[in-house]
Amino acid sequence: MPPLVDNPAMRYRTLGRTGLLVSEIGLGCEGFNELPPEEARALLRKAIEGGVNFIDMYSPNPKMHRAIAPVLREHPEVIVQAHLCTVWKDGQYKAARDLQEVMEGFDCYFRDFGVTYFPIGMIHYVDSLATWQTIVTNGVLDYAVKLKREGRIGAIGLSSHNPEAALAALRSGLIDVLMFSVNPCYDLLPPSEDVEDLFDHAKYEGDLLNLDPQRESLYEACAREGIGIDVMKAFGGGELLSDKSPAGVALTPAQCIAYALDRPGVASIMSGVHSEQELLDSLAFEDATEEEKDYASALRSFPRLNWRGRCMYCGHCAPCPKGIKVAEVTRFLNLAKAEGGLPETVREHYLSLEHLAGECISCGMCAKRCPFGVDAPGNMKEALALFGK
Ligand code: SF4
Ligand code: SF4
Repeated sequence: MPPLVDNPAMRYRTLGRTGLLVSEIGLGCEGFNELPPEEARALLRKAIEGGVNFIDMYSPNPKMHRAIAPVLREHPEVIVQAHLCTVWKDGQYKAARDLQEVMEGFDCYFRDFGVTYFPIGMIHYVDSLATWQTIVTNGVLDYAVKLKREGRIGAIGLSSHNPEAALAALRSGLIDVLMFSVNPCYDLLPPSEDVEDLFDHAKYEGDLLNLDPQRESLYEACAREGIGIDVMKAFGGGELLSDKSPAGVALTPAQCIAYALDRPGVASIMSGVHSEQELLDSLAFEDATEEEKDYASALRSFPRLNWRGRCMYCGHCAPCPKGIKVAEVTRFLNLAKAEGGLPETVREHYLSLEHLAGECISCGMCAKRCPFGVDAPGNMKEALALFGK
């Protein structure tokens, strides 16, 4: 069955080197846990009708798996991201690291869904270097490699909230997909092994200026190396949408989704919907106007947080009289700079742009429109120097 890519209600993106075409709005699974089986199936059907073809299945809840499995069997084109290292114990979810437990837990996924293959096997919740070391030394990583070699999973994924741990895992060269928490508040914070730090408002009270460099490095490394990112917590568990947001200003779902989708490497947002209305709110992004998606003006209005001087790839500098897509050129420039050279893949992607930095006439219009005070013409000069065109 070919991937569902012809649904006009949805845009699709390539999930890095997996080559999978995934809907830019995907689904988290936690909402299904709370619904009676018939309602869970109806919600999933509604999402598929809306063009969703990508679903994260972190929860090992067998009842929920069996409730929605019939819909997934009707729609084999839906890409399921199953998790390694989650098990169902005493009626609850538990993160597992013991190899035997991990293998038994993953067998349950195959059994519950009645399948022999998952497109992605995601190593679950690796938030510290020590956890990553455990994954390497206790045989879980080897098990994931074996599953892939045997054709029982198509790609190895890793989920994390900590850029340090994720970068360490990426260096293994074995991770194809990253599930990461991305939103404009979390992106300001330095790495931490405690996920609770992301929800702790006190952490946002210091001077926070721009994206944390390790988070930025992580997104850039993913884009360069073809590791597709699917996003969790794009709305910060709903907090960013309320006046309780650590930013001090409520964002809209469309702004949060647009922000996450603009980060390098990101292919899809796993939206954790609990009701049909929440699903429709997320799907509405596909029809949102540029004004509705405009997160740049919202970020500028954060009373406590400063974003000045760094390109956020928001595209506000358009239009350029020479047709240069400044955000795209800047993204490739930053990817190359982060690598400290000129990777061939970045060069190729850059050269495939319709208009290159060499066409810039330094009119300064882009800089005038930039809400973040970025020296965009200066970036064009740098790009010309680096790429030669
Ligand atoms: S240069 Fe400014 S306006 Fe243009 S994409 Fe970057 S941050 Fe946005
Ligand atoms: S300064 Fe260069 S990139 Fe910016 S709008 Fe003018 S021509 Fe386009």
